[in-house]
Amino acid sequence: MLKSEESFEQTEYYKLLLKFETKAFENYCNNFAEIQDYKEGVLKKGFEIIKNCSLHLAEFNLQSKVILKNEGKSSLGKFFYEPVIFLGSNQISKENHLELAYLGFLLEKIQNKFPDKGLIIDKEGGKHRVELAKLKKPLKVIISEIQSFDKAPPKLLLNRHCSQCLFENSCKSQAQKEDNLSLLDRITPKQINKLEKKGIFTVKQLSFIYKPRRRNKKVKNPPILYKPELQALAIRTAKTYIQRLPALDRKSIEIFLDIEGLPDDGFFYLFGILISDNDIQNTHSFWADTQQDEKTIWQGVVTLLERYPGTFEPSAFEKLAKRYQTDIEGIKKRFININSFIYGKIYFPTYSNGLKDLGKFIRGKMGKRKSIRFTDNHLA
Ligand code: SF4
Repeated sequence: MLKSEESFEQTEYYKLLLKFETKAFENYCNNFAEIQDYKEGVLKKGFEIIKNCSLHLAEFNLQSKVILKNEGKSSLGKFFYEPVIFLGSNQISKENHLELAYLGFLLEKIQNKFPDKGLIIDKEGGKHRVELAKLKKPLKVIISEIQSFDKAPPKLLLNRHCSQCLFENSCKSQAQKEDNLSLLDRITPKQINKLEKKGIFTVKQLSFIYKPRRRNKKVKNPPILYKPELQALAIRTAKTYIQRLPALDRKSIEIFLDIEGLPDDGFFYLFGILISDNDIQNTHSFWADTQQDEKTIWQGVVTLLERYPGTFEPSAFEKLAKRYQTDIEGIKKRFININSFIYGKIYFPTYSNGLKDLGKFIRGKMGKRKSIRFTDNHLA
């Protein structure tokens, strides 16, 4: 599907991965004095390496940048071909193994031999041999599921992988057209299934089932549960609902931190820091153009933060402290996850509590404070 000729609007992240993938492919090819281009009949000639393979096999398409010759009996002769794939990142996923096995499955149709191994070349040119035999069975299950899509197309379910997926834009616009329940960032597939059994298929329909409940005064600290129906109501009415007022312990100096990174590479390229010091606000940004610059910006961030008490995001700090052997025990004690003040307590008319969604909403709503509703008032 990814390699098909259908046109999809590529996300910026996908374009970046594609660029690195092409570079990895070119660098790998530079190691060979001669590489044969694929054309009909070339496989039987037994060249060591063949590039740009493109074959139509009944209902399948074989698109492979490189295949490598190995010794062993096949219908081609005393040799067969193994698949090679290239990545635009250094992180190898289960899906990459399956992609390689899929190419092996297609090669088997041509050479009558399933290649036992395949090769993955990562962004830095690292070579990873992968055993394919054990993937044959799960692959067949996936292929038969995909083949059944012709009869009933799969249900659209946005998920946390979408931001890295080539189809993000088309799936999101389809989800918006359908007013799909999975547009709500926090809703789980289990909750969606339950709602669909009750005949609720859209965010709008969901918004009508919210019922404020009386609080049980005997329970001192009731658990905070996320209510997708209240989120849907907030979206339909374009109002913010407060289920429970968060207790904010404000300080004269506060630090807000946002970190951007490439998840596949574990590379953090931007730290955005806002320091509010007795109502005087200053922003700082630390950019790393390459992975080599990461250590420098990390040291700059730690030096700056050590000068202030504040609120930080812990996971990236843990990773970077380990990577660069930095002592951040003092900083760690002051970590506060701001999301915990919002989750299940405040429902903005947004599909997620992500910075982009909230930022867009706040920019559009500045000054319209009347739109805020306190559901606790209904409940008292
Ligand atoms: S739902 Fe998300 S992960 Fe699945 S194809 Fe669409 S964008 Fe990609």
